[in-house]
Amino acid sequence: MDLPVPSLPTPLQEISDSVTREVGVTLYIKQDDLIHPTVSGNKWRKLKYNLLQAKEEGASTILTFGGAFSNHLYATAAAGDYLNFKTIGIVRGDDLGEGKSSTLKFCEERGMMLHFVSREEYKLRNAQDYIAQLRSKLGNPFVIPEGGTSEWALKGVEEMTFEVDRQLNQKPDYYAVAAGTGGTAAGILSSGANVLAFSALKGGGFLEHDILNLAEARMAKNGELTLFTAYHFKGYARHTPELLDFIRWFKEQHAIQLEQVYTGKMLFGLYDLMKNGYFKEGTTIVAVHTGGLQGLLPELK
Ligand SMILES: *Cc1c(COP(=O)(O)O)cnc(C)c1O
Repeated sequence: MDLPVPSLPTPLQEISDSVTREVGVTLYIKQDDLIHPTVSGNKWRKLKYNLLQAKEEGASTILTFGGAFSNHLYATAAAGDYLNFKTIGIVRGDDLGEGKSSTLKFCEERGMMLHFVSREEYKLRNAQDYIAQLRSKLGNPFVIPEGGTSEWALKGVEEMTFEVDRQLNQKPDYYAVAAGTGGTAAGILSSGANVLAFSALKGGGFLEHDILNLAEARMAKNGELTLFTAYHFKGYARHTPELLDFIRWFKEQHAIQLEQVYTGKMLFGLYDLMKNGYFKEGTTIVAVHTGGLQGLLPELK
């Protein structure tokens, strides 16, 4: 089936600067942000097999869930438009503030039907009977969980690691990845690689259980997971001057743009670990640029 013209494999770029040289770490960035302008990064990896499965089941409509600034809703709306699926977004409605976010405006432009629900109702998003109710009300759509994170997502993420295996001719010692729902971290883990996951949200401790559960459901030979919960910078979608300064520094050094919600926090955390002697000399790390640049703060452009 015609998936939206992704450029694969994405480049694996080696990064060298005063920090990596000082600690003797070999660091690469897997540039999944370059997959596609609107269906970028881990969202494309996670959607691919979900959408193939939807086709297989003969579904004409995709229903999924997200907040007002969800990169997953954005990517689903764009992919649905390319692939002729109707799309429905169930949106947590309480935090809309003044009017619609640019993310939601984009979703509507791409034909997504938005249903706003209360914070309370949104909490039911994974409950079987709630999903059954939504499906019968909305014409039996194929349902993709929040963030795209399902067993199909992991299969798509594993393909990213197969690309890296071929590009490096070996497995890196670790992957570093930002975590929101943990689906991307779980997919890397279920490929057999070791994962350093950096929570983009405050109180991200629950992610450990979620990531391990998702990965175990694939019954693959899993790598080891280490979760870091301290690099949230006041919470999901929040940021501090220190974080923004790091993103600017990284771009100056490497001409790679990070954003402030996920990838900036992950790389800040990774650099902090390097500076604090966390890694042995000779360690090889692949940090995954999971995309999300449509949500970049204008002041970072
Ligand atoms: C959604 C997103 C993540 C989080 O991915 P999960 O699989 O939900 O943990 C990380 N980075 C970017 C840029 C994202 O858009």
